[in-house]
Amino acid sequence: MSAWLDRENPARLGELVGRVPVADAPDVAEAVRAADAAQRSWASRPLADRAEALREAAAAFEDEDLAVLLARESGKPVGDCRGELRFSGVFLNWVADRAPEVLADVETDDASGRLLLRRRPFGAVAAITPWNAPVILAMLKVGPALAAGNTVVVKPSPLAPLAVSALLERFPDDVVRVVHGEAGTGAALVGHPLVRKVAFTGGEGAGRAIGALAGRMITPAVLELGGNDPAVFLPDAEFTDAAMDRLVMGCFQTSGQVCMAAKRLYVPAGREEEFRAAFTAAAARVVVLGDPLDEETTVGPVITARAAERIRALIGSGGEPVPLGRVACDLGRGHYVRPTLLTGLDDSSPVVAEEQFGPVVPLLAYTGVEEVLARANAGELGLGASVWSADEDRAFDFARRFEAGFTFVNTHGRTGMALRAPFGGVKRSGHGREYGDEGILEYAQTCSVHAPAAFRAGGGGMAAAAYPG
Ligand code: NAD
Repeated sequence: MSAWLDRENPARLGELVGRVPVADAPDVAEAVRAADAAQRSWASRPLADRAEALREAAAAFEDEDLAVLLARESGKPVGDCRGELRFSGVFLNWVADRAPEVLADVETDDASGRLLLRRRPFGAVAAITPWNAPVILAMLKVGPALAAGNTVVVKPSPLAPLAVSALLERFPDDVVRVVHGEAGTGAALVGHPLVRKVAFTGGEGAGRAIGALAGRMITPAVLELGGNDPAVFLPDAEFTDAAMDRLVMGCFQTSGQVCMAAKRLYVPAGREEEFRAAFTAAAARVVVLGDPLDEETTVGPVITARAAERIRALIGSGGEPVPLGRVACDLGRGHYVRPTLLTGLDDSSPVVAEEQFGPVVPLLAYTGVEEVLARANAGELGLGASVWSADEDRAFDFARRFEAGFTFVNTHGRTGMALRAPFGGVKRSGHGREYGDEGILEYAQTCSVHAPAAFRAGGGGMAAAAYPG
């Protein structure tokens, strides 16, 4: 290893948080070989032992020093970082509880014969993760993969590599490896012939590159990519304080740098002013832009200077900006961007048509339910969506017609998640699922063992075979 990657605190320019060594192709190959070598003996251990390893790791997740480290490297408020660590532990325990049932052999013996379905591991899994929720997004891959008997090589984002690496050390040494670096390190990992499954979360550009490389290797890949989530308020929706507080944080948590943030707000024509007033008042209650280590901060800086420039350009690209929330820091100290509502835009504006991935959200009016559905479903992305209504049945009827992998009802984002509910995209938001039983089954391949009834004693032989050869 020759080079190092430095990580600077995005809230305090010039403050070095830490550094990681860059893994080159031979380093990556060594990590994959080690993961491959350890895999068969890991898979041969009883599932109860593997589940216990997840529980043991999870027990050490509530670590204040690591929550602070995560806040310093990512710019996320420290309270959010504590929440991410705690939730990651909860998730690992949930996998440990669910895996025995989800991964159990299924055996049938009936008039057609005897059929055994086995859930077998793939081998060494490559996990490539983004910076915005680095701990939970790594655990969503590591937990199910280990439970199913795989080993894992993780490549965290160089923008938040430190806390997650420390947490990955809490798993048995030989079954989880970590390599650091940028796209080149990730490509060396995905392209290694001993990698049997790829799990990627990140942006569309990297997703295309990784999907193409995995395709060339005939390695299956889960791709969890970006979103441009619509939040649709049906005509009967009330803009209550509680609902608006949830929505505002659904837009601006992690400074809007969340795959499933609400990114387009659709309200009935004629109610824009009412909505704008309610949304602005909610932001005044719940948005405190400030240093991530200050306990009252709810929104921190964005991740890099480049991201800040890109988002400021979007805010300046048209429409009327409404600055939101309270500023509780010196904005020049870090990559701060004031949360902003944009009004007066149409659907062709970049901030509506594309994933903005920052603290700016457009307010759009619609006149008919069919019209808003078509506009919400327009575009290539289909990760999350939300529908808001006083009538839950009406909301569910509408939700059935969304082109989205996950629809929230009367909330949006983290407050609407459930461990048992699979999460992932449709269209170009990717394929494969995390969370839920499906998120565990992603890391197992079903292998069949079959004794046809035709060839068992008294079974009738060739004449009775289902598909005579
Ligand atoms: P990114 O795509 O820039 O990076 C993600 C990871 O991929 C990093 O580890 C990076 O080093 C690596 N990488 C980049 N190019 C690569 C290549 N060519 N080959 C191999 N590895 C490569 O994403 P980011 O900026 O860290 O995260 C933001 C994006 O992630 C947003 O689009 C967001 O919506 C998306 N995201 C999606 C989900 C989801 O569950 N669907 C969750 C979080 C974030």
